[in-house]
Amino acid sequence: MKAIRLTAWEQPAELASVPEPEPGPGEVLLRVAGAGLCHSDLHLMHWRAGTLPYELPFTLGHEVAGTVAALGPGADGIEVGEPVLVYGPWGCGRCPACSVGAEHLCEVGGTGRGAGLGLDGGLAEYMVVPSPRLTVPLDGLDPVAAAPLADAGLTPYHAIRRVLPLLRPGTTAIVIGVGGLGHVAVQLVKALSPARVVAVDRREQALEVAARSGADAVLPAADLTPSQLRAAAGGRGAAVVVDCVGTDDTLALAAGAIAPGGHVSVLGLAGGTFPMRAGAVPLETSVIFSNWGTREELAEVVELARAGAIAVEIERVPLAAVPAAYERLAAGGCNGRVVAVPRDA
Ligand SMILES: [Zn+2]
Ligand SMILES: [Zn+2]
Repeated sequence: MKAIRLTAWEQPAELASVPEPEPGPGEVLLRVAGAGLCHSDLHLMHWRAGTLPYELPFTLGHEVAGTVAALGPGADGIEVGEPVLVYGPWGCGRCPACSVGAEHLCEVGGTGRGAGLGLDGGLAEYMVVPSPRLTVPLDGLDPVAAAPLADAGLTPYHAIRRVLPLLRPGTTAIVIGVGGLGHVAVQLVKALSPARVVAVDRREQALEVAARSGADAVLPAADLTPSQLRAAAGGRGAAVVVDCVGTDDTLALAAGAIAPGGHVSVLGLAGGTFPMRAGAVPLETSVIFSNWGTREELAEVVELARAGAIAVEIERVPLAAVPAAYERLAAGGCNGRVVAVPRDA
């Protein structure tokens, strides 16, 4: 079968032919319907050997939905033919973090492994999911449109849900970087709170996506100063900033625009430094480098999508077009989320 593989560090991913996988004991074989292309895949291709404890090669794709094609011996609680969304962080399943569904925080057997992250993911015709536990029923949602919920939906949901008490009437949330995660972040704040949303991006087309997603104001990032952004948030500053980029520049914007007692959630993996010093940020600013989310939260994200409260803007591409689509993503030329659809190929 065809798959998009990471075969060497500091190299682009490649279209390759690999054997169709077979499900082992307790495992689930999925016929992939759709797999999202994420900016973090680009980081994987750019980072040096040793940055992550992953062995190469493996198939990329950590936002995956599909249909159960076969079950390994002993896999139960799930049916062949069932459409499911894959929960991407694959923990041990029984440590304290995993036992409350927070498998993204599991540290047993290595940090941060999951679908398309050190282990074969969904940019392929088939993939193996280690356990039925790591799937959420789609119950009628279109699997191609739902695939990005696994990260572009779950990651901002996890970040925003924990600070909903800050998003009271009259407050403002700022979303910096309106790509795959960012445009869902805008929708989530509007769906879950009465806060205004100000969206920032350097790309005009991303600001159009932000407006369609419900942003109350959109600001081009070019030449934007922290004090201008603070003013746009209503003078007092933003109760919450969600930074989907994470460069020194965007973190400086976040630090300059946050309100006293406000919360900055950094989702972007660009590796910038937040200027966390007394005097540099308002009193009682909290900052989190937020990462993915829990199994329970993914089920809630699916419910929000089913209720029509959030919807990912998607562009479908065949597997063979994925390497070119990654180049376009790197150049800022994608809107919303690009989803690879193996069966269209
Ligand atoms: Zn991602
Ligand atoms: Zn665990």
